[in-house]
Amino acid sequence: MSCDAEYFSTSGTAPQLFASALNFLAATQCIVPNKTDPYDEIPDIDTFDFIIVGSGSAGSVVANRLSEIETWKVLLLEAGPEPPIESDIPSLGTTLFQSKYDWQYTTKSNGDKQQGWRNGALSWPRGKMLGGSSSMNSMVYMKGRDHDYQCWDNEQNSNWSKEKVDYYFKKAENFQDMKLNKNPVVYQTYGHSGPLVVNSLNSTYKEITENLKESWNHLGIKSVPDINAAKYRGYGLSGIARVTAQNGHRESTYRAYLKPMINRKNMKIITNAFVTKILIDDNTSPPQAYGVEVEIGGQTIKLYSNYEVILSTGTINTPQILMLSGIGPKEHLLSKNISCIVDLASVGKNLQDHLYVPIPIYGDKPGIEDTTEEMFSYAKYLYNKTGARDVNKIVDGIKMVTKLVNTPYFKTINAFIPKIDIPECNQYEFQSDLYWKCYSLQISGTIFHPVGTARMGFDPEDSVVDKFLKVHGIITSASEI
Ligand SMILES: Cc1cc2nc3c(=O)[nH]c(=O)nc-3n(C[C@H](O)[C@H](O)[C@H](O)COP(=O)(O)OP(=O)(O)OC[C@H]3O[C@@H](n4cnc5c(N)ncnc54)[C@H](O)[C@@H]3O)c2cc1C
Repeated sequence: MSCDAEYFSTSGTAPQLFASALNFLAATQCIVPNKTDPYDEIPDIDTFDFIIVGSGSAGSVVANRLSEIETWKVLLLEAGPEPPIESDIPSLGTTLFQSKYDWQYTTKSNGDKQQGWRNGALSWPRGKMLGGSSSMNSMVYMKGRDHDYQCWDNEQNSNWSKEKVDYYFKKAENFQDMKLNKNPVVYQTYGHSGPLVVNSLNSTYKEITENLKESWNHLGIKSVPDINAAKYRGYGLSGIARVTAQNGHRESTYRAYLKPMINRKNMKIITNAFVTKILIDDNTSPPQAYGVEVEIGGQTIKLYSNYEVILSTGTINTPQILMLSGIGPKEHLLSKNISCIVDLASVGKNLQDHLYVPIPIYGDKPGIEDTTEEMFSYAKYLYNKTGARDVNKIVDGIKMVTKLVNTPYFKTINAFIPKIDIPECNQYEFQSDLYWKCYSLQISGTIFHPVGTARMGFDPEDSVVDKFLKVHGIITSASEI
């Protein structure tokens, strides 16, 4: 056996699961000294060409691509540590929720909606580690609809057309499902030599999956070999999702983009580095970003950039850091005693998310009830991707979903929708439109896809960044490159 095995950090779950396996490994494996953190040293006032803040889905890719240019000195700052081994194991991503690898955000109860949840508050996990949320997410790989990208392009964001976006998707992808690759349409849908491996997971529950797909077929929601390859034309589609996974382990952007280039001489990665502010010179007109203020190891230091500071800190933290740096709605900043450098009303606005309304279906198949619910959740997830935005549409969706119990397979297991005791909704007739409206307002949750708080657009009145993703009203020295 080779001695170059790695030591991993852990949140505690995997060791319990694999205790017996570890006993075996301890007996057979070489003893490797504790890995030193390669990402921990930096002097105050150091200067880089590019400083990237946040190493998540976006930041990791940018760090990798920029540091391909050997003459550019690139710094990546990440508030969290390296991901633990639980991140590697697909089904253990959720065990990282509420751990030090999660920002542990929750929504605040408004005393009215979402009262079906404990304390009326929803948990909003966000990855805090190299790879960011891609190190703990559900790994489902959906490329979105051509139409949505084309809308961006049509709204004066040229170069964001479906063709251009598709080019970059394919540049990223390495599609490895050998069976599906024999299907020419699926083959052409994906790239085959990019860094990000996309594949299919083995399913232990093939029978229930097939039964479920067949049931959707009965409702007119056709099963397709690959949802990304099928063109969505207004009717529903079902299918088994592709995932970002390689050889059964998670393919986070950390694994796909950071690990392969960790030894590049022009690239420095600092973990446990919490950026508190972008440094902006407001004596220039327009004001110019020139560095960051960051807390590392209990000390606050300043780091400078020759060209650009790239903020890729996710949907919640990006507007927060912009505001702390003086970019945002003026009145709000002043109310928090922050001087306003650029009055940009849209910072933090336009938040959008994928709603999730769990509808349990009970049946008589011993031993697999949980699985039935789980598979069902996924089916509903895909449905929501079609853009149900208001409560009436959600009610239509729920009613369509409840028809599943009348399809042949669900009839064989005597399936039914149980009535959940939600005091706020008990006044309405069970399964009436008013009941489902109340139900969805009280019990809906998130499937963790918040986006939009730094909207791209032409007009600074309703957007934060332009089509080059540069913050309106701020310049950098990048034009000197
Ligand atoms: C539980 C869960 C399940 C999901 N499932 C799926 C799925 O199946 N399919 C899918 O396509 N999407 C899924 N998503 C969504 C997807 O993971 C995110 O949309 C995506 O990862 C966001 O990328 P990002 O780069 O914008 O932010 P993130 O990946 O969240 O990265 C932001 C990074 O910035 C760092 N950071 C933040 N603030 C600071 C600071 N002040 N200083 C330094 N660093 C900072 C964070 O620690 C983090 O590493 C899921 C998300 C979650 C949480």
